[in-house]
Formats: sequence, C-alpha cells, structure tokens
Amino acid sequence: MALIRSKIELAAGRRGIDAKSVKLICVTKNANLDRIEEAIGLGLADMGENRVQEAVIKHKSIGNKAIWHLIGHLQTNKVKDAVKIFSLIQSVDSIRLAREIDSRAREASKIQDILVEVNISGEDRKFGVAPDAAPNFVKEVSLYPNIHIAGLMGMAPLVENQEDARVYFKRLKNIFDVLSSMDIANAEMKWLSMGMSQDFEVAIEEGSNMVRIGSAIFKE
Ligand SMILES: *Cc1c(COP(=O)(O)O)cnc(C)c1O
Repeated sequence: MALIRSKIELAAGRRGIDAKSVKLICVTKNANLDRIEEAIGLGLADMGENRVQEAVIKHKSIGNKAIWHLIGHLQTNKVKDAVKIFSLIQSVDSIRLAREIDSRAREASKIQDILVEVNISGEDRKFGVAPDAAPNFVKEVSLYPNIHIAGLMGMAPLVENQEDARVYFKRLKNIFDVLSSMDIANAEMKWLSMGMSQDFEVAIEEGSNMVRIGSAIFKE
C-alpha cells in the first residue's frame, strides 16, 4: 500500500495537484471478505466491484464499513439490487439503463450518483458510449430527476507500457473538460475515473482524480 500511495503522490506532484484530491478505489472483484477487511484496516474506504450479485454478498457482511462502487457492466435486471448498495454506479452507458436506474432510484427514494462510461479505446471494448456521442448522452441522462451525474469513467486498452495508455486518457480528459465548460444542470464533472494497476500513474498525470486499483493492492 505504501508503494502505491507514494506512486500516487509522485504522479499528483508531477501534475501539480494534491494527492489527497485523488480518490483511490480498491477493486475487490478478486478479493474475499478477509482481504477486504484487511484493506479497510489499511485505511481504504472505497471498494469497487464488477458484479452486482457478488457485491450484494460482500455488502451483507461488510456493509457500510465501506463505500461501494459499481465499476463493471450493469444489466437492467440487476439495477434494483445495484441501487440498494452502490454509492456510485460508474458504468452507465445506455439510455435504457439510465431510465431503469432512475425508476428504481425513485422507488428507493434515492438520488443515484452515476458516472457515464465512455469507450475511449474504441473497438477494443464493447461497453461505454462513443466519445462523439458523450455530450448528447450526458445531456439526455441529466434530465432524469433521480440520477445525479458526477463525472466520467473510462478504461484504456491493455498495454505493455503505460505510456501507450496516455493518448486514451488525454481523450477522456478532453471530453471531461468540454462537458465541464458546457455546465449542464445536474451533470457535475466532479470525478474523472481513469487508471488501474497497469496505468494509474499516467492517468493521474493526465487529470484523473479517481483511480481504480485491484491487483497491485492485493499483490502486496
Ligand atoms: C478490474 C478492474 C479494475 C482494476 O484492475 P486492476 O488491474 O486489478 O487494478 C479497474 N476498473 C475496472 C472497470 C475493472 O474491471
């Protein structure tokens, strides 16, 4: 953990920002309950899960000792459970999904925080809205009263050298800045969620303020 924290600090320093402004999400998709408890013991508060059903089980025992983020693809039939446990749903990429989140959040008397997932790597992944479509998509989703847009999420393709991910992060930061300047009501550009174990340093250099790290934490 000390090594990861120091890498975050150095990357933030290179960008001239305070490392405290970069939120670290501990990705627990391959971690059991004991490891999650350990992570909480190390001071990690935010957990990222890819699957709703698995998160529901983990949430049952860990509960509100952690803040839960959904970072994997969400199917509409899982939205009801997702809205119950996740503080932030980072993977919203279709209107159909947004509509379902809005309606389930209303039933739960909740305003659901979400990030819009943008497919910055193009052909490599099937999830996320196309970069060109992102502004209109954000505008449309911003109209749902029980959803609050809190930023954008994206993934670079798998690369051997994290330098090669830089161009993708620049692309997402650019969209983030465009949307910030559009100043859309109910679409706050607060979080730019990009960077994983393989590439979080470059992501922070390019403007990420939320990194999602799994394997690098649990390897230590
Ligand atoms: C698994 C996953 C991560 C973390 O990946 P690591 O390589 O384990 O750090 C981050 N974001 C998403 C969307 C993931 O699925």
